[in-house]
Amino acid sequence: MRGLILSDKNFLFSETYFDRATKIRENITILNQLVKNPETKHILLWQGKILFDFSSDTPCLALIGNSHKFWRSSDNINIEHGSFVGFQEKKAIFYHNVPDWNEEEVAKLKITKFFDDSRSFHPALPKNYAFSELRSMMTIITRTDATILASIKGIYEWNKVNNFCSKCGSKISRTQSGWEKKCYTCNTKHFPRTDPVVIMMIYHKDKALLGRSPVWPKGMFSCLAGFMEPGESIESAVERETLEETGIIVKNTRYVTSQPWPFPASLMIGCMAEAKSHSIEIDKDEIEDARWFSKKEILEAINSKGAWWPAREGSIARFLIRRWVSGKI
Ligand SMILES: [Zn+2]
Repeated sequence: MRGLILSDKNFLFSETYFDRATKIRENITILNQLVKNPETKHILLWQGKILFDFSSDTPCLALIGNSHKFWRSSDNINIEHGSFVGFQEKKAIFYHNVPDWNEEEVAKLKITKFFDDSRSFHPALPKNYAFSELRSMMTIITRTDATILASIKGIYEWNKVNNFCSKCGSKISRTQSGWEKKCYTCNTKHFPRTDPVVIMMIYHKDKALLGRSPVWPKGMFSCLAGFMEPGESIESAVERETLEETGIIVKNTRYVTSQPWPFPASLMIGCMAEAKSHSIEIDKDEIEDARWFSKKEILEAINSKGAWWPAREGSIARFLIRRWVSGKI
């Protein structure tokens, strides 16, 4: 399969504006110098939420210098414990996990919602700075910030839940500045995982097949999607997931483009496929609804923001839908 050349991508997390400098991750001497360099940018995370600067109408990623009073605010905060991310415009970037500072802030986390849209304020940081969930900011921040944050969010989530060796059960240690972990009992290395997901624009002539999950915001429909299984090709996964979820048989699957989706570790593989059948039989265990929508209906929904809308802005699904509606894929 050959992807299309898409120079005007308008979805997030998929640019390459920063240098990952992977060779530096294991060089403790250079990392120790970089983390203390006054030019270095420090990004702060707390409970997986990222520190943003809300001073202006256009919120942006908050970057803390190494002389900021924040670093002296708690015995539990040590600039040397940061994780190296890479270089942006020749300046090193590190991220740091901020320990809890207040039980009330922890209690405010709205983990039962689709995503947490609350803001959390740290007493040693400027009053316009707040920790906020990346999903609630993804349509506001720049694509450059989004690219860096996709990596940080992904590596943070992997580190958070991978603390024991999957081979022998021993505790594993962080290496490569957090980009690897190692079990010193059985010498197994553990690498961050990426879970491939196929997401497909299923169409037939003038109509597109869109579905919705029961956990999504009311009114949102999107492209069908599903995790790939071991031993499966992209084309097979598209065919299987579409058939399982809606009973529709597809042909002519082709790859379009991809998007990292770090919630927590997905890579969305965007495809197009043509429907061979039309009668929808929904698997209620997988999706809540699926319907055929005409191009006219989708265009009206995009422009009017009415009772339903096709996918979230910034997502690859929205990109695929927009591109198909405008005849560009
Ligand atoms: Zn082990």
